[in-house]
Amino acid sequence: MTREELLSSCDLFLFDLDGTVYLGDAPIAGAAAALGRLRAAGKRVVYLTNNSSKTRAEYEKKLRALGLWGEGDAVYTSADATAEYLRAFHADKRVYLLATPAVREVFRAAGVHLTRQTPDVCVLAYDTTLTFAKMKRFNEFLAAGALYVATHPDDVCPTAGVPMPDVGSFLALFERSCGRRPDVICGKPFTVMGECVARAFGVPAARTCMAGDRMHTDIRFGNANGMRTLLVLSGETTRESMARFPDVPDLVLDSVAEL
Ligand SMILES: [Mg+2]
Repeated sequence: MTREELLSSCDLFLFDLDGTVYLGDAPIAGAAAALGRLRAAGKRVVYLTNNSSKTRAEYEKKLRALGLWGEGDAVYTSADATAEYLRAFHADKRVYLLATPAVREVFRAAGVHLTRQTPDVCVLAYDTTLTFAKMKRFNEFLAAGALYVATHPDDVCPTAGVPMPDVGSFLALFERSCGRRPDVICGKPFTVMGECVARAFGVPAARTCMAGDRMHTDIRFGNANGMRTLLVLSGETTRESMARFPDVPDLVLDSVAEL
């Protein structure tokens, strides 16, 4: 598919964050101008991230500071998708949630009934305030048979130094301690977040493009959800390494600046 075909076939453009529109604290060169051209052409820009340690407002602040925010833009995180999933399918259930205080408020504001006693559902978000006491309680509730939901599956979170353990590393921990894997994972590359995004922004998957730098999360997510996919080579993936994955993106560009 050519760039022109991709542009004409999509109304909603979902952008991954790190490796796609910025690297750490530096915007990708030319990204701001390319996003501006998309908005001027009437396309909706939504930033889609698996990182469930921060809120939409926190990401918007960073994107504004980097000059990447425009009128009509939105952020959607795997925590937003998980809160929406719980609201839609487990509205009457009591939920034990591991999350940062700010993300806890996101779930509370979405109407999720949070509890610290005998929950029906255990939810693991990217809790950078995690303690042993919280892990012990979570493990006990899992062993007692609570529905097990995780915001996303990433093993590590990219940082300037050694990558930090992310939700996937804690999923491995709980698998070792109580033998359970999540019943539902909401974020990329799974379909819960794809369905949530289609509902939230009112654009069918066939008119949506997922743009990102990771084959196994971003491109897998787009393909699994029936979207168009754009791989950018500004982050994790190279032209050589992309061939090692079963998914094929509709278009490959060196960076979003070429859009
Ligand atoms: Mg990325």
